[in-house]
Amino acid sequence: MHTQTISELRQQLDRGEVSATEVASYFQQRIETLEPKLNSFITTTFDSAQAEAKAADEAMAKKETALLTGVPIAHKDLISTKGVLTTAASKMLSNYAPPFDATIVENLRAQGAVSFGKVNMDEFAMGSTGKTSFYGVTNNPWNTDHVAGGSSSGSAAAVAAGLVLAATGSDTGGSIRQPASFCGVTGIKPTYGRVSRFGMIAFASSLDQGGVLAKSAEDCAIVLEGMSGYDPKDPTSANRELPAFSKMLDLSLKGIKIALPRAFFDCGLDAATAKAIDETLAIYRQLGAEFVEVDLKYHDLVTPVYYVVAPAEAASNLSRFDGIRYGYRAENVQNLEELYDRTRTEGFGQEVKSRILMGTYAKTEVLYQDFFIKGQKVRRLIANEYQEILKEVDFIAGPTVAGGAFSKDHKASSIQNSLFDANLIGANLAGLPALSHPMGMSNNMPVGFQLIGRAFDEARLLAAAHQYQLNSDWHKKRPADFA
Ligand code: GLN
Repeated sequence: MHTQTISELRQQLDRGEVSATEVASYFQQRIETLEPKLNSFITTTFDSAQAEAKAADEAMAKKETALLTGVPIAHKDLISTKGVLTTAASKMLSNYAPPFDATIVENLRAQGAVSFGKVNMDEFAMGSTGKTSFYGVTNNPWNTDHVAGGSSSGSAAAVAAGLVLAATGSDTGGSIRQPASFCGVTGIKPTYGRVSRFGMIAFASSLDQGGVLAKSAEDCAIVLEGMSGYDPKDPTSANRELPAFSKMLDLSLKGIKIALPRAFFDCGLDAATAKAIDETLAIYRQLGAEFVEVDLKYHDLVTPVYYVVAPAEAASNLSRFDGIRYGYRAENVQNLEELYDRTRTEGFGQEVKSRILMGTYAKTEVLYQDFFIKGQKVRRLIANEYQEILKEVDFIAGPTVAGGAFSKDHKASSIQNSLFDANLIGANLAGLPALSHPMGMSNNMPVGFQLIGRAFDEARLLAAAHQYQLNSDWHKKRPADFA
């Protein structure tokens, strides 16, 4: 067996060439051997994976095969799993096993997926490197001296290293697409409302959206189809028909118009990334796509606005971690105030504390109008600008990030990192679907190409990337030690 794609594994399982139990044993062994080099998992669930694999074999014997029957996956550790540790990579939740499953988990299990556990991430999804995790940084499988990106660091590394075939992620300001780019995998953040947020530990509720990282656009389509859908338990869930993404990958790119915002290329692209972009555009062009250059007037405001909106929401969301209801609780305290104070001081890491402070500051009585309200208004302008462009074109595209993954000792503040990530955040502010697929290498590290689509147009976004992948090999390259 080799670590293949979901669509290849599906055929082998359906033809009876391999059983789900054999697949599970193979991936368990792979995780046991390779995971020590990566630190991509926080919790492994081998026993329940074996049980799920057995159930998958029984289902297949009865010809009850679903979309993901027998397919090995993992969940980002902010996605609640009943009875299984769900830490959000924070000391604050290091002892927390939720009493319920997130809707994403239920949906994927109902489709027969076999979960191997919970993968590493930046603490509460705040970061671009994986370094803010209480459980330590995740190493990039292409070069273990480099970060895997963030915040879905473990999801990207585990998929790139072939420890699982897909992993769930969440994307508030690029957290699926940036690590996908850094690790040479494909990742999609769907339209806000497409995937239920029920049971996903909240960072910034108006931006957070669950999604998937996998080896190809086709695999992303299969998993997204399995995890999406209207959920009455999430008040922001969109009550819309769920397209069968995996069966809609045939698309002619003839006449497809793609906007290239000048600002997306103005981010200090290194030479190899610039060359990879040119080659990628040439392939899309050969397939019939037309490119038009456009201006994004508000691009410079995207990161500043994000750093008002996201922390403001985070400060409210994270107020529930008070040492009373669940999670970490400071010991030997004299009174209630000291309990709150020491629990939060000891339970949260530096990055999380700084975001809570920023967000609280932006909402103080004197600054509310100038920061919070102004931030909301500028967010609307940015969203409108994206929507206006998408009336004229099918997609907006450019480099996902300005270059490859940085080395682990690269020192930068989270705001500096987010400026490097500026191409990613607009899609979150506007609630639009966006995808990153591998497009080349820079300094021996993968780099990705981003496509942003119209609201609820994931089907064409995935199909366009699939057409590119039918005509290129970057998504088939594997890191040497993990091939
Ligand atoms: N890098 C961004 C941040 O640090 C994105 C995080 C995310 O999408 N969860 O906030």
